[in-house]
Amino acid sequence: MIPFSPPRIDDKVIAEVTAALKSGWITTGPRTKQFEKNITAYTGCKTTVAVNSWTMGMQVLLSYWGIKEGDEVIIPAYTYCASANVIVHAGATPVMVDLNESDFNLNVTKVRAAITPKTKAIMAVDIGGLPADYKELMDLINEPEIKGMFNGGSDFQNQLGRIILISDSAHSFGAEYYGDRSGSLADVSSFSFHAVKNLTTAEGGALCFNLPSQFDHDVIYAEMCTKILHGQNKDALAKTKKGNWKYDVIEPGFKCNMTDVQAAIGLVELDRYQENLDRRRLIFDSYSKGFESESWAIQPLYETEAKTSSYHLYLLRIAGISENQRDEIIQEIFEQDVSVNVHFQPLPMLTAYKKRGFKMDDYPEAYAKFANEISLPVYFDLSDENIATVINAVKNAVNKVID
Ligand SMILES: *Cc1c(COP(=O)(O)O)cnc(C)c1O
Repeated sequence: MIPFSPPRIDDKVIAEVTAALKSGWITTGPRTKQFEKNITAYTGCKTTVAVNSWTMGMQVLLSYWGIKEGDEVIIPAYTYCASANVIVHAGATPVMVDLNESDFNLNVTKVRAAITPKTKAIMAVDIGGLPADYKELMDLINEPEIKGMFNGGSDFQNQLGRIILISDSAHSFGAEYYGDRSGSLADVSSFSFHAVKNLTTAEGGALCFNLPSQFDHDVIYAEMCTKILHGQNKDALAKTKKGNWKYDVIEPGFKCNMTDVQAAIGLVELDRYQENLDRRRLIFDSYSKGFESESWAIQPLYETEAKTSSYHLYLLRIAGISENQRDEIIQEIFEQDVSVNVHFQPLPMLTAYKKRGFKMDDYPEAYAKFANEISLPVYFDLSDENIATVINAVKNAVNKVID
């Protein structure tokens, strides 16, 4: 069976994790701090806070930014549930918009129509690894009329004086947009280092801050480190210093710091990340070449003049099929021992969001994308032979179901 997205665990990773375990320090410590510095350098953002998942990082950010009941946050209808769940937990209301026709990202014209005086944030999602339209989004929230409509509800919100642009960069580590890397494309970006993501720490995440110059990013880093550790003004490592046991709790914080065991995996992964991206790109190109002559194949957009994907998900679509036929094709692919997936079931299809009044009919583009989409395996250890097997399995399955 060709798996969908196994992690790359080899002797290098095992050696670094072992070194962390033997070091006598396994929770947040020198490896986590180094990992944060390396991410800041790689992405070009102003400061990075490592956390235990995308989800908790975003949850803390929404709290930090003062997003609360009565506020609205705009997200695409087509994303993983985490993007919306954190907004609900913050007490705010997710406002969903439909996608572009040309790619899987949120449509800026639809975003414009969704902005109200209650809008506090826009969370763009880089689906599959292709950056959203950050320049257009930034221009939009800086328009005098949109800015004039903005009602700041916290000191930070007033200091920024406009809607904050957040990036759900769970898929896009290493992606580029006009020469800048994901992590530095929005005011704040959040990465996921979950086991299936391009770069993994088993579970983990990072918030990359890139706010305008009136914000002191050293202060933000220090405050965030407190927020992710119960509001304690000293972390466990600082407390081990001689006579430094006493601490205070400044506010009831969260608990979602990254451990040095996780960071050990991340340090190795980041060190050889270009190699990973190169392999993924080759896999994408091979799939595109493999399906080039098939009239039913709609290939995903992964390189444009402005954007280069991180090659996270190969979102193949099959023209002219129904949702049922897509499901049959997936079954036929699995019968040939190849694992595939669907990214994503749009949020209005899920019980939790149906119950909140969202209707799939309001998002025709998201439904059209979902109904005929099949995500193919992409990972560093996928061999050339595996790639050929995947291509054949898809062709066989499509021909069987369509004919
Ligand atoms: C994986 C994923 C998340 C959540 O990441 P976790 O680290 O598991 O919390 C959020 N958004 C998108 C688009 C994802 O794919």
